[in-house]
Amino acid sequence: MQEVDYKCLRCGHIFKSQYDPKVPMERACPECSSNSVRRQKKSK
Ligand SMILES: [Zn+2]
Repeated sequence: MQEVDYKCLRCGHIFKSQYDPKVPMERACPECSSNSVRRQKKSK
């Protein structure tokens, strides 16, 4: 399990959420409840 950044494509809100490759989950923006969120790739 890892924590990754998500960005809402609707309102632009960025939030952190747990990401588990074994458990596909629908993400929803905590600000506008849109499910159009995209995972932000973080360069290590
Ligand atoms: Zn949003």
